[in-house]
Amino acid sequence: MTTELPTPSTRPAPGTLTFSAPRRGKAPTHLADLDMAGRRDWLTELGHKPFRADQVSRHYFERLVTDPEQMTDLPREGRDELVGTLLPQLLTPIRTLSTDDGATVKQVHRLHDGAMVESVLMRYPGRVTMCISSQAGCGMNCPFCATGQAGLTRNLSTAEIVEQVVAAARYLRHGDLAGGTDGAGSTEDALRVSNVVFMGMGEALANYRKAVDAIRRLVDPSPGGLGMSARGVTMSTVGLVPAIDKLGREGIPVTLALSLHAPDDELRDELVPINTRWKVDEALDAAYRYYETTGRRVSIEYALIKDINDHAWRADLLGEKLNARGRGWVHVNPIPLNPTPGSKWTASRPGVEQQFVERLLAHGIPTTVRDTRGSEIDGACGQLAATV
Ligand code: SF4
Repeated sequence: MTTELPTPSTRPAPGTLTFSAPRRGKAPTHLADLDMAGRRDWLTELGHKPFRADQVSRHYFERLVTDPEQMTDLPREGRDELVGTLLPQLLTPIRTLSTDDGATVKQVHRLHDGAMVESVLMRYPGRVTMCISSQAGCGMNCPFCATGQAGLTRNLSTAEIVEQVVAAARYLRHGDLAGGTDGAGSTEDALRVSNVVFMGMGEALANYRKAVDAIRRLVDPSPGGLGMSARGVTMSTVGLVPAIDKLGREGIPVTLALSLHAPDDELRDELVPINTRWKVDEALDAAYRYYETTGRRVSIEYALIKDINDHAWRADLLGEKLNARGRGWVHVNPIPLNPTPGSKWTASRPGVEQQFVERLLAHGIPTTVRDTRGSEIDGACGQLAATV
């Protein structure tokens, strides 16, 4: 499959940042938008007993069902209407594409207003990682990224973010992702989403409230949410400094991944336009504060782009800047850039990538090249442009 980029007329001008999403297409309220107290209040307003909120929440988060026929503990009278109100259909599956012999699956969903989002499910030995979208499109305009070139369509609601994970959990429970019984870990583990990364479409911290509420739904124990470990959740950002500090104060110890892509302002201004607002040192200081506040080691994401940011001296500069802030607080993930159709940017040569990694290791920085699972189905980072 090839991902078509939008026509140039719909693309944002180079370097333009879009923080506020166009006001369109607000999704209908869904049970997953609210915490348990909010759900009980909603049920009371609708003229029902508040404990019905607990019952429907268990069906949704534990049993992963939305069919009123399967909710036999609810009174027959008015059941369809109640469930239809609490659990409106938010995502309509448009396409499911798989690769890696079925162990990687990209799901394309249409939202109620026609906007499109994508999520990717990946099985690794002993874990299942899900990459989700927080916005339809993205306003951060990184020039090497298909999503950024399409611009920002709108923010997703909390439930639209959560529903991507619930849809994937259902997919897993039905045994549709390959490798469920031959990997490490128990069969039960094989049927659960163990890790969620906010690395699909969008800059999650630009949709802060909805994204943080979505994290709460992922980690809240049932019936409040899916009961995942916060350690299994990674929030990715290009470096919205005030939002990183705010996230650190939320008291949910998710992993922070800072997409740095360059250690010097001159290049990063071009590669990651948010750098014109918050500079490399400010972003790294915020990442370090996040580590200090949460105790969670931070990941630095670095897309290696041939002859652009893959120089040995840049690896050295990155190592020096990270060590200047402390030891043991950070981990670097170089990622070979995924080719985007029509783009001049390509992945670094393997020998250059190797040298970059060795330089960082020589500075004592833990460094792991991240695989680019899903690149054949345009499901790797920077490739989610949701065209059908
Ligand atoms: S790389 Fe991330 S932040 Fe940058 S435009 Fe793409 S989706 Fe947005």
